[in-house]
Amino acid sequence: MDLTDFFRDTPLDIEAKNHKTIKLREFWKQTVQGASLGRIPTLVVRLEDDNGGILDDLAVLRFSDLVDFIAEIQDGTKTITDLRKPIEVAGLDEVVASTVQKGAKACRNGHLLSPSRTQCFAKGCPYSAGYKAKKIKK
Ligand SMILES: [Zn+2]
Repeated sequence: MDLTDFFRDTPLDIEAKNHKTIKLREFWKQTVQGASLGRIPTLVVRLEDDNGGILDDLAVLRFSDLVDFIAEIQDGTKTITDLRKPIEVAGLDEVVASTVQKGAKACRNGHLLSPSRTQCFAKGCPYSAGYKAKKIKK
């Protein structure tokens, strides 16, 4: 797999180095020069263990970019949490009750019915058309 393909949808511009000797200053300059405007220059270096095997692949990026990245993720997580909260519509029960008082029909669960209908259309309501009780497994 090409690293470039994998990271195309991220804000990272990756410069990958697999050299025996890690020349951080030199590699970093190349990484910054090669990065597109508005992208986060990211250097990936392979670190060898004492036996010439792979100890780890490390990412080097500006600390400020890392902090921004984390802040963005936290913002996104907070937004998702907010969006998952159930929406409460104030006064909905009262609206349904007064609509029923005005002559609209409701099923026995309180779901409003269309004027020409006698069966509920609320999904999963036992008074709806086509409702099937869940079978209890024995
Ligand atoms: Zn119903």
